[in-house]
Amino acid sequence: MVGYCPICGKPVYFAERKRSLGRDYHPLCLKCQRCKMHLNAGQHAEYDERPFCRNCYLKLFGPRGNR
Ligand SMILES: [Zn+2]
Ligand SMILES: [Zn+2]
Repeated sequence: MVGYCPICGKPVYFAERKRSLGRDYHPLCLKCQRCKMHLNAGQHAEYDERPFCRNCYLKLFGPRGNR
């Protein structure tokens, strides 16, 4: 079973996949899309199908109603 990495769009094979929030990423692709910090599976936030660390997520998108 092959999934596709939502970051680079290439296939992710079982042996190399890093599954987080229901998606399969390459280990190198699972990083914050703003500060490039490496993220641990299940320990990050997500927006528009892209992973962000919690700090960047809060700065960019939250907290709710703070616009
Ligand atoms: Zn990838
Ligand atoms: Zn970040």
